Amino acid sequence: MAKPFYRVTSTLAFLLALWPTLVLAQGGAPKKVFVITDLEGVDGIFDFNLQCIPDKSPRYSESRKLLTAEVNAAVKGLYEGGAGSVVVYDGHAGGHNLLPFDLDSRVDLLAGTPVPPTLELDSSYAAVVFIGLHAMAGTPNAILPHSYTWDIENIWVNGKKVGEIGGRVMLAGSFGIPAIMLAGDHAACEEFHQLVPQGECAEVKRGVGPAAGFTLTSSAACALIEKKARQAMRRHAEIKPYTVKGPVKVKVELVSSPSARTFTQQPGVEQLDGRTWVFRGNDLLRAWLKFSSF
Ligand SMILES: [Zn+2]
Repeated sequence: MAKPFYRVTSTLAFLLALWPTLVLAQGGAPKKVFVITDLEGVDGIFDFNLQCIPDKSPRYSESRKLLTAEVNAAVKGLYEGGAGSVVVYDGHAGGHNLLPFDLDSRVDLLAGTPVPPTLELDSSYAAVVFIGLHAMAGTPNAILPHSYTWDIENIWVNGKKVGEIGGRVMLAGSFGIPAIMLAGDHAACEEFHQLVPQGECAEVKRGVGPAAGFTLTSSAACALIEKKARQAMRRHAEIKPYTVKGPVKVKVELVSSPSARTFTQQPGVEQLDGRTWVFRGNDLLRAWLKFSSF
């Protein structure tokens, strides 16, 4: 009996030692996903003063619950679709919006401020997902549209107009990561699909003006987000990273104001007029980081 038993155990040990190699050879490395969150694109949210200012808005605590529910739905779908780990970046105003007590225990949460300007992203991630993002400044029938700060009217990257969705799709792309899914309003979904036509979108509301529109209930929005996250994760290999060829010129037009802000003078930074600035670099990161963080 001793000899066959030895053979079985040694074969088993050999297979176990080889297992990580076999898994990797089949493309089975654990897939890390980075979820970027914001608040203005979450279901039920239409009014900045009423719902979005931490510890000041009368309905801010309700907004935190709505956001946390959407993130949990996305995390569930991502794991079901094959994610191996999920990092969630709390991206709205100061980064203390998600409720750690209620958040899915599998999440690695990146919270607080300041977070390094590239959001701690790197090429080890398999996919980026957006929850609660909103359309760029000036988009018609978008709910709470803006581009990073309320004093920015337009941003162009090599002539292409972008807001927070575009900036972050391009950031992910510069690390070779595809942005595979977005949850937000109808206008945000259109903006995302214009850059990533193959991506999945969970449309949780539809604006009829900048602070009004139709919305799914929280439970309906979460069911949709879970489904889209699962689909996106299953299809993530089909979705390509968005790349911007260098050299890169980021042009920023501020809202017209006598007290428009100024930027640090340095090589590659040029002021065109009272409210228009240009930031140049050999690639997207070098140009964009002269202007701002992502
Ligand atoms: Zn925000």
